[in-house]
Order: sequence, then C-alpha cells, then structure tokens
Amino acid sequence: MREIHLLNTLTGKKEKLETLEPNHVRMYACGVTVYDNCHLGHAMQAVYFDVIRSYFEYCGYRVTYVRNYTDVDDKIINRAQERGISPKQLVDAMIASSEEDMALIGVRPANHEPRVSESIPQIITMIQALVQKGYAYANAEGDVYYRVLKKSDYGKLSNRKIDELRVGTRDLVAGDKEFDMDFALWKHDETEGASWDSPWGRGRPGWHIECSAMAKMFLGATFDIHGGGRDLVFPHHENEIAQSEAANGCGYARYWMHSGLLTINKQKMSKSLGNHIMIKDFIARFPGEVLRLAYLQFHYTSNVDFSEQVFRQAARRLLYFYESLQDLDRLAADAPLQEKLVPGFDPRALVEAFHHEMSNDFGTVGAMRELLQGFRRANELRQGKKTPAKCFTAKAYVQTLRELFGVFGLLRMEPQAFISQLKLQILKEMNLAESEVNRLIQARNEARQNKDWAKADAVRQELLQLNIEVMDTPEGTRWTILWKDDEA
Ligand SMILES: [Zn+2]
Repeated sequence: MREIHLLNTLTGKKEKLETLEPNHVRMYACGVTVYDNCHLGHAMQAVYFDVIRSYFEYCGYRVTYVRNYTDVDDKIINRAQERGISPKQLVDAMIASSEEDMALIGVRPANHEPRVSESIPQIITMIQALVQKGYAYANAEGDVYYRVLKKSDYGKLSNRKIDELRVGTRDLVAGDKEFDMDFALWKHDETEGASWDSPWGRGRPGWHIECSAMAKMFLGATFDIHGGGRDLVFPHHENEIAQSEAANGCGYARYWMHSGLLTINKQKMSKSLGNHIMIKDFIARFPGEVLRLAYLQFHYTSNVDFSEQVFRQAARRLLYFYESLQDLDRLAADAPLQEKLVPGFDPRALVEAFHHEMSNDFGTVGAMRELLQGFRRANELRQGKKTPAKCFTAKAYVQTLRELFGVFGLLRMEPQAFISQLKLQILKEMNLAESEVNRLIQARNEARQNKDWAKADAVRQELLQLNIEVMDTPEGTRWTILWKDDEA
C-alpha cells in the first residue's frame, strides 16, 4: 500500500496515515444543515472529501465514508414555520435537493448518510453515559449540559486553554449552566415534529452530540479520519472530541482534516452582498465538472477565492482537456494490439508523478499540473506522420489520463457531447449566438474554397475579435473559444 501523508489538525503536523484496520479507511465528514439549498461553500467541502475518498480507493483502500444530515436545528424549525410546513416536510425536500446538487457536481453518496432524527436513541444513550460518568448534568428545565471543566485536555484541537475561553466568553449569559463554556447536549423543547421523549423530558439534541453519536454508530468509538470545514474546528469538533472521549473512554478520530473557506471576489458569501451562489445557479451556467476543476486548482486546506475569471479559466481548461482527449481518442482508435511505446513517452511516469503529488496531503494543485503536462506531452504524438507506435502510445495515454482524471471526477463524459454542450454554454456567457459563429465559419470556408485568401483571413480576424479561434487540423476545420482574461 502506498504511503499517504496528511496534515492532522490535532497535531499541526503532516503525518503518515496508519489505519486502525489494515487497508480500510473509516472517515466521517460533517454534512449540511438542511434548511436551504446547497451553495458553493457546501459543494467545496463535498468535492474535496469526495476526491480524498476516491484517492484512497485508487490506492487500493476500502473506504467507509459517513456524511450526516443535520435535520434537527433552530434554523429548520424557523424556516418550516415561515413556509407553513412541518420540519419533516422541509428537511425531506432539502435532502432531496441536496442529493440532486451532489449528483450534478459528481459527488458520490457516502456509504452512510444518517439523519439526526433517525439517531435519537443512540444520542440519548451517549448523553446518559456522560451523565453517569459525571461529564454532564441536567438542570431543572430539562436541559443537559456538558461539563467542560471536567475534561482536563479540553481545547486540544483548537489549541485553546479553558482560562482563555473563559475570558473570551465573559459576556455570555450563563443561564442555568455551572460554567459559561458548558454546551448543550440536550435542549428542552416541545416543538411538534422536532422533539422527542428522553430521561430529561421532551426535547431535542444539541448540535455537537449528534456527530459523536452518528460517527460511533457507523465507524465505532475510535476511527481514522474526521473531516469538515475549518470553521467547524471550534467549537463543533472540539466538543465532539470532548463528548466522545469522555463517553467512550477511548480516543475519537485519529486524524482531523479541515478544508479551507470560500470567498467570492474576496468577500464571504452572503445573501445581502448578492454573491451567494447556489449549486443550481452555477450549473445553469456551466457543467458540474467545471466547478470540480475550479476547486481542485486549489489545495483543500487553502482558502479559496472564486471570481468570474476562475470560472472562465476552469471552463477553458476543461475544454482544452476534452478537445485533446477527443483528438487522442481518434489517434488511439488506430492502435495495433501490440507495439512499443514511442521512446520518451511513457504514461507510467505520469501515474508516478500523480501519486507523488497526491500522496503528499492530497496535492491536487501539483497533480493537476502533472495532468496538464501529460496532455501536452500526449498531444505531441499528433504532430507529424501517424505511425503504429504513435497510435499505440496515444492509446496508453488516454487510458491513463482517463483513469487519473477519474480520481478527480473529471473527464467522465463522452468528449463530443461534452464539448458541444460546454461551447454552447460558454458562447451564452459571451453573449454570442452559435448561429453567428457558424455563419462566419461557413463564410471563411467558402472564401477558402474560392481561394480568396484575403477574405478568408479577414473572416478569421473577425472571429478572433469575438474570441473564437479557427484551426485547420488534419481532421478538418475546428473552432475553439478564447477568453480575453484567460491565462491557460
Ligand atoms: Zn459534525
């Protein structure tokens, strides 16, 4: 098994992955609170952990991946009331919408996708264990709190000391808590459709305990990797650790992986700023693979800043990949069954380079650069006279490129169909009608047939003004799209 190193938030160091069970990665990532449709921030975390999972699988690991749905929450209750529907109706609709969104961006379902509302007995059992061990207490109102001061290493994930936390939260109303930092495991509540009976009366679980309980249900008390966005480190993940270690009497997740945060034009996404991009809005403009490519050009731990330029560049780059793939497929179609590779062209070197980047904390930025080089190299085979060795080598390259891009969830479509779709969408972005482009290309072809080179060249310039580049290839005249701000 290939050695994989990953940055562990718990230690702040890059560590070699050693799974508890040989060849089996058990990982949990916090899912969405289902009160609204998913936006590009949700998509980002989902795509990164999808690729991390795929890379483990590509290396030969079995992966058990759990991603929960938080379907019990104040926001859900409030939104359902606003819309005059039950919390259950709202969450069912939002989970269906989220599944649709994830499919659109090629994120596979997790192996287990538990909902809080279906995990209440396990949550109550865990809270009872905490109460029995003195790590939690109930107050007169029927709320149950975690006793933060009882756990001497509380704060180890986010590197905070309890004394600092106490200062930081001085103005919080303590209510019926022993200590400001104590957090709710169970809240007294009687909302219809969003509350359950418990030893402490009617109520619902706090946010943090749900993940502790659901992770244990499917992965056991101790498992390999826990992931999430960096904004969850404190308090959510810190509290998960405190609860699980105290209740189970053993370690919780061994590696903590946190993805960065997303900004749009250097601003946090927010509805009031009008830069709140939903997955469905993005998909109306570009295929899902464009979004995946845009994320993977950043490292998962980086903060990602999106702009129109990033989207356009990703679209243009993906178009280049698919166009190259289509050309190489044509060459590969004539490959003999047995032949030698063209000297100096060996896709196995590409596989090694890909692993070199990816096994180092999932270096998608470097891996993407290697894949781009791989295409450039393979495209050299298209130059000059076609030989059996070139066709054979092209075939080896397209197989390898498809396999490696497959880890990223890219190049999964049939090239011709994808290219046509993407070109149409890009033209729409440029406010250009396809019929106009076709008319000009037709005019240029006619001029060439009439050997009117001056006119053919004038039309070519006209197309270039529209950022359309015409190329005369061995396979015939083709056009592709340039974008002025494109840096590909
Ligand atoms: Zn969680």
